[in-house]
Amino acid sequence: MTIQSKFSDVDLCVKCGLCLPHCPTYTLSQNENESPRGRLALIQGWSEGQLELSDTLTQHIGNCLTCRACEKMCPAQVPYAEISNRFRSETATSSTHQLGLLERSAIKALTGPYRKAFNALLRFYLKTGLNKCSLTLNEVLPGKVLANQLKQTYPSLAPVKQGHVALFTGCASEVLDSKTIKDAIFLLQHCGFNVTLPKTQRCCGAIDLHAGNKKQVELYTQQNHLAFSDNNYDAIITVASGCGATLSEYDPPLTTQVIDISDFIAPFLPALSFKPLTASAWLHTPCTLKNVQSKGTDIVELLNNISELDIRSFNTDQMCCGAAGTQMLTHKKTAQTLRKQTLMPIKQRPADYLLSSNIGCALHLNAGLKSEGLNSQVLHPVSLLSQQLKV
Ligand code: SF4
Ligand code: SF4
Repeated sequence: MTIQSKFSDVDLCVKCGLCLPHCPTYTLSQNENESPRGRLALIQGWSEGQLELSDTLTQHIGNCLTCRACEKMCPAQVPYAEISNRFRSETATSSTHQLGLLERSAIKALTGPYRKAFNALLRFYLKTGLNKCSLTLNEVLPGKVLANQLKQTYPSLAPVKQGHVALFTGCASEVLDSKTIKDAIFLLQHCGFNVTLPKTQRCCGAIDLHAGNKKQVELYTQQNHLAFSDNNYDAIITVASGCGATLSEYDPPLTTQVIDISDFIAPFLPALSFKPLTASAWLHTPCTLKNVQSKGTDIVELLNNISELDIRSFNTDQMCCGAAGTQMLTHKKTAQTLRKQTLMPIKQRPADYLLSSNIGCALHLNAGLKSEGLNSQVLHPVSLLSQQLKV
């Protein structure tokens, strides 16, 4: 197969430009090469042999945040992310080389199979003040990381048992935010589900996918196929929309449907009771949830089960917050500019909580809140629901 035929789907782009106003990198730069249409044209030029594979070309593709806002708006349904990932894989271009050795090792350890050991090491690293060794990591790591004491199975705690689900824990959530996982398990148990955390599950592969590491993605896909092969699961639940988006697009697909926790629990919440909470919360919807994984559940409606809670939503055209996987570490200027824009409404109207369904966005936004001197507590929406559940 020639390179040109491998990229024949680039022709689907009719160059209408409807995606441009929705693209954060184009909006910031006003440079066509930093737009979806421009990037597709660059890939087309390269695949047809009209353009050399230069650093400039790969940088334009590498600057993309993979937020997929463009795909959602595209009338021709151009599979932009798939084309961009294929390009990165074909050309072995990845921006992770822009990271220092410590950051690269940390990401490798985080996505590897020894997360419990990494969790212990990270707690030591934070406790001893060694984190001053890496300013880049120090900015996004939480001040404290809890010990990971997750069990493999949890029984339903509801009077009526509804079924059995598997929980995908995600490497960053498991190490840096086990609170969200525990809260999700607690809610699922009270919705009537037995919950299993398959021991052999691996990283979803999102970081490697966007870095063009096709072989590693294939390995994770195979390992997760095996880990979640039990046909007794009603669903595979994800708590980080970045992982959920990747798992739900596995090729071949996982045999059990992959569902974001908010979509899954929505039908069961009316049977539960929640304590009122006199507080305010901004709800951030990650790009991977709104542009890829969501089945359309309105999380505001879920949170409305908590009476007295004042919920504030960002504009529907809210752009990427800049976290974008490892982009917040490799493309700091763009990441910080987009974060500043995202946090603007919170700065104008501070709230007690900032809720986000993706660990990467939560870490990035939390760092931004700190630098702006804002005290909102960053939580996953399920943590607030779990905290207020009447049991
Ligand atoms: S994925 Fe996001 S950043 Fe990349 S081209 Fe599309 S809209 Fe722009
Ligand atoms: S909206 Fe779709 S068809 Fe139109 S320029 Fe963007 S990618 Fe191409």
